[in-house]
Amino acid sequence: MTGPNQPSLFDSEDAANAEHANESVEFIYQRTDLTKVEVKRSKRAKRNVTAYRDNDKTIVTVPTRMAKRDIDAYVVELVNRLDDRDERTSSQESLEQRARMLSKKYLGQDLFDTHKVPVKIRWVTNQNSRWGSCTPDEGSIRLSHRMQRMPSYVIDSVIVHELIHLLVTDHSPEFYELMNKFPQHEKAKAYLDGYSHAQQYFKPE
Ligand SMILES: [Zn+2]
Repeated sequence: MTGPNQPSLFDSEDAANAEHANESVEFIYQRTDLTKVEVKRSKRAKRNVTAYRDNDKTIVTVPTRMAKRDIDAYVVELVNRLDDRDERTSSQESLEQRARMLSKKYLGQDLFDTHKVPVKIRWVTNQNSRWGSCTPDEGSIRLSHRMQRMPSYVIDSVIVHELIHLLVTDHSPEFYELMNKFPQHEKAKAYLDGYSHAQQYFKPE
């Protein structure tokens, strides 16, 4: 469906300019709302309590017989630990390191060194209609904070997409020639399309 020069969710010039104008907050990380944590009892868990992230959900697995009071204490501790980890991996500094690595690996050059102007990449909280956007003349790449808890291949795909726009402004065959070097880009696109679709049709109550 998305061919060359077709508008995509990643970016569209008009929207990019409009949103760029009133961009204010660089990065806000929201700690997990504990009431939204899902606790699952598991026979296999025995004495172990584990927690993991599934997109924006946090799932804590506890042994079947564990007391409610003990569970609460574990949940707070484990969720805090996951939040700390996510905060570290989402920081501005690590975002730039990650983008540099992707640029070298998939585009054969570190665009942070080779682009005509210094490149800045950052999370923004006021970009809700697109996942990423790029203003090549300013060397500026913005990523929607809504992606922060998505799988890393999805975030990487959007970073590579926007990095390519530093070189190729449209979605021409030249663009896709570069994009295809990132092996999971179709899978990432399917993930984001599915996510958008679900958000559109399954509104939280
Ligand atoms: Zn694009």
